[in-house]
Amino acid sequence: MEDTALDYLQHTFGYSEFRLQQGEIIKTLIKGDDAVVLMPTGGGKSLCYQIPSLCRSGTGIIISPLIALMHDQVIALQQLGINAAFLNSTLDAETTQKTETDLVNGDLDMLYVAPERLNTNGFIELLKQTRISLFAIDEAHCVSQWGHDFRPDYIRLSLLHEQFPEIPRIALTATADQATRKEIKQRLQLEHARDFISSFDRPNICYRITESQSNARSALLRFIQNEHENDSGIVYCLSRKKVENTAAWLTDKGLTALPYHAGLPPAERQANQQRFLNEDAIIIVATIAFGMGIDKPDVRFVAHLNLPKSMEAYYQETGRAGRDGQPADAWMAYGLQDVITLRQMMASSSAAEQYKRVEQQKLETMLGFTEITTCRRQSLLEYFGEKLDHACGNCDNCLSPADTWDATLAAQKALSCVHRTGQRFGVNYLVDVLTGKANERIKQFGHDSLNIYGLGKELDARQWRTIYRQLISRNLLAVDIEGHGSLLLAEQCRPILRGDQTLLLRKESKTARASGKGRKPFVNDDSENYALWQALRDCRKRLADENNVPPFVIFHDATLSEMMQRQPQDHVQFLRLSGVGETKLKKYADAFLKVIQQHQEGIKTSNSETVNETLMLFRSGQDIDTIANTRKIKPTTVYAHLANCIEQGELNLEEVIDIKPRDISIIHETLLSVDDGSRKLKPVYDALDGMFDYHVLRCVQAATLPA
Ligand code: ADP
Ligand code: ZN
Repeated sequence: MEDTALDYLQHTFGYSEFRLQQGEIIKTLIKGDDAVVLMPTGGGKSLCYQIPSLCRSGTGIIISPLIALMHDQVIALQQLGINAAFLNSTLDAETTQKTETDLVNGDLDMLYVAPERLNTNGFIELLKQTRISLFAIDEAHCVSQWGHDFRPDYIRLSLLHEQFPEIPRIALTATADQATRKEIKQRLQLEHARDFISSFDRPNICYRITESQSNARSALLRFIQNEHENDSGIVYCLSRKKVENTAAWLTDKGLTALPYHAGLPPAERQANQQRFLNEDAIIIVATIAFGMGIDKPDVRFVAHLNLPKSMEAYYQETGRAGRDGQPADAWMAYGLQDVITLRQMMASSSAAEQYKRVEQQKLETMLGFTEITTCRRQSLLEYFGEKLDHACGNCDNCLSPADTWDATLAAQKALSCVHRTGQRFGVNYLVDVLTGKANERIKQFGHDSLNIYGLGKELDARQWRTIYRQLISRNLLAVDIEGHGSLLLAEQCRPILRGDQTLLLRKESKTARASGKGRKPFVNDDSENYALWQALRDCRKRLADENNVPPFVIFHDATLSEMMQRQPQDHVQFLRLSGVGETKLKKYADAFLKVIQQHQEGIKTSNSETVNETLMLFRSGQDIDTIANTRKIKPTTVYAHLANCIEQGELNLEEVIDIKPRDISIIHETLLSVDDGSRKLKPVYDALDGMFDYHVLRCVQAATLPA
């Protein structure tokens, strides 16, 4: 049975090995036992029930509350050659009838159903006539009355156990907390089930938070242009108005950005969401309402232009990036105004005291998270009760450590400015007083005669605003309840004012730290493969349109990227790509192989002209640097051209580089020993400890192992 599971993984789904606890979970179900699975978004929950459904005889019944997802999952399964169907309120009577007949006849591998259907006697009767392999309860936290997604229909799902005690059940969720998990087990009568708890870490997501005062939008644009051109992404804003302005502004800058919020006409909202799913390089600008029920695996970035209200929200929203496991960014820009607005919202909320206290606490934690100078991932996971014992190396604080500085004196000045002016003014006014600005209002209040006036000239206005932000974030200053934005001293600031406590603050660099210094873009547009990447994407889009499915249902970015790197030549090589199973091989391999072949031929012909030009200059006696200068290309490109000529027999190795025969044979041996068919030089370079430059390796490769 377990061999069959692996067989399905490899031949139907096209993946080489199980992830996280998938293997164990699948084994448990195949044996006929129950399981409760906690796995983060993108962890690979679906396979945990899809493979046992296939391995066991009968139909797998999957209960899912998200109608849109149901449809997507079913078409994705059909693409793999699996007989899957769904039943929910969107179907007409005829289709429903046919699906039910298929079910009873045993023609379905899997059936997705909405929870309310299980509460009809008719459907239970139908199930009784059916051979069932397992029940999967997806989004199992919907059974919890304390959560935000409570669904009354979920409560009745305990009847599955009562009516079908022999059939194994699996409940799955990405909602972390222990209370919810307990409730799931209890309400669904799964107390005896095996628990599978995976780490909540999403190692492929790079967390970056930048401070920005008035230029968050420009920082966002830079971030997208530098790192995510042609990628899909989500930008979150707090208000509808900001959503619309931001979408319009990004569109004006040449990007395809579509708004999404509850105030748009349903048809427009639906159309925008559909384009996001079906096209490449669409950016959705949304209020937080967007995302639930969106299962797009290749979202390459999630950007926040406002601070989320809690760590849970931050984790959930950023979690929509990179579900396919490929590198993705969670990027956020926030500023002083954000902090003030949120504080005001909290203070003026009419909610019950206890609720307010909880919300307040959550916001504090979120604010604290933005200001830390240590590893963000460690801190995020710690919030969810998980310990990561090393810094991650994939967050802004790890990638470019932030400095701190002793801000005690500056904080004292900032605080006493609040005190001396009577706790009646907002940040802008306070900063003007500190920097000694001559303005009418200050004169009018006589604040130019205070000794604090102009006492903060050593810092500029921007720096003072940063200090105020951090003081508010750390609760050393409070914001007035009336909502005028006046700052008040908080009890906690006394030790600092008295000089009993020093204050270390995060140093902000002039340029927005989080832009430009992150990971490398998915595919660089100056890499020679960029044209191929685009051609492969075009091919995928064409096939998607023909089949009427979103592009990622044809192949994920990960598969496409591997295709670009490995450039398979035939079906055998194509099948080795992760994400290619036998059905997709038959359906799509030829189209992609043709694109690859055309690309390779294109390179050969377009190369020949430019190579000839380099060869002419070389033969006329110019050295490499001179050729590079004349032709305005890089010396490495000149060498690549010359290597090409060596390969074609038009030049001898010794004409191009000065090398001893012994070194040639060392390199040749190494080329042979690390050869994996890719002709990549990095492994050779590494194996030789960098003893020879790349251009030397390339020329020797051309001479001794022509392609
Ligand atoms: P979840 O439901 O937990 O959010 P999914 O089941 O949608 O996650 O899986 C996320 C992505 O990971 C999917 O694109 C899926 O195809 C891929 N995936 C799942 N398991 C594996 C595996 N063993 N190897 C490679 N990719 C996998
Ligand atoms: Zn880190």
